[in-house]
Amino acid sequence: MTTFDVFAVGCGGGPYEDNLSSYFVKARDALWKDGIVAIEAGSGLGALRRLLKTRPEVFSLPTETDTSHKLAPAEVYSWIRSYLISHPHLDHLSGLVLSAGSTASTSTPVYGTQHTLETIADIFSGKIWPALASWTDEPGKPLRLSRLSPEDGYVSIADSLSVRTMVVSHGPSSPTSSSSEHPPYESSAFFLRHDPSARELLFFGDVEPDALSTHPQNRDVWRTAAPKIPDVLSALFIECSWPDGRPDEQLYGHLSPAHLTEELCNLAREVVASRARSRVTSGDESSSSSDSERPSIRRRKRLRRSDSDVQDIDVRGALSGLRVYIIHCKDDLQETYESPIHEVIAGQVRTLVDDRGLGAEIVAVEQGMLISI
Ligand SMILES: [Zn+2]
Ligand SMILES: [Zn+2]
Repeated sequence: MTTFDVFAVGCGGGPYEDNLSSYFVKARDALWKDGIVAIEAGSGLGALRRLLKTRPEVFSLPTETDTSHKLAPAEVYSWIRSYLISHPHLDHLSGLVLSAGSTASTSTPVYGTQHTLETIADIFSGKIWPALASWTDEPGKPLRLSRLSPEDGYVSIADSLSVRTMVVSHGPSSPTSSSSEHPPYESSAFFLRHDPSARELLFFGDVEPDALSTHPQNRDVWRTAAPKIPDVLSALFIECSWPDGRPDEQLYGHLSPAHLTEELCNLAREVVASRARSRVTSGDESSSSSDSERPSIRRRKRLRRSDSDVQDIDVRGALSGLRVYIIHCKDDLQETYESPIHEVIAGQVRTLVDDRGLGAEIVAVEQGMLISI
């Protein structure tokens, strides 16, 4: 059963501007022209123009065998029903900014946290770029800033699609500022839900490892995701900006293969703990009428133990059925590697994940890839 289509308009971590974070998403049973959710908007019309030449079939109707009707990039862009932006770094929104005055968009919602939207509002203040975004439904404004808060739970952002937002940390706001002086830069993780089937995917914006963070927040996301894996949630999009061997002090708020693997181990521990908890709970429920007090106390003790000993849990196979899509790999400017950098990094992650026996499948995302989930 497939639920989502995800098209990678751009999936790199910069600095090449023609392949920056930008994903078109729709429900599998819907048509692209009936509404696209754009998760991030780094690369925009230019990348799309190039991709439409090599992959014109992606956006054509299923009944269209003749793809000679050339879709213009602006036409596909006009199908965007809403934007979902994880954080306001340029590589995640430059396409949105550059296209805002040129497309047919009217009051298209741009969803993000308060921090993200306030910064986007600064861009559209009339100094960096014309005032094309509004906090209200102002006539004539192409974009409407629409606040998402972690407290809101799931918020409908398109036909049949809802999002739940969680805040994550993205390193010090300046490479020279000590992280003890400033809170970490704020980014987001999104649980995107297909409402009719209740299936979800999990998308991380840029994120630093909990192990290096002054304000670790990834564990909360893993704890939320764990009970859903793999039946409800079988796809995780997460960055791995750097290849192995890069020193921790030069990660600048991003993940490397070793740190991503540690994060996936944390997720795996949460999955095992969650399954243990649900076994205990269902055991309690099935025997509540006939059970004496003593076994139920024993179960509660077991439940507490599964929380506190979470580091010692055997995680082998815990992530079976989960696909981890590696994104935001930073371009290899020195051209050190013979293979494309996303394949190098994904290969390193795969080796580490396989060594730990986690059971997750590691996929290198490349630009122009159509992913069915
Ligand atoms: Zn980025
Ligand atoms: Zn960033």
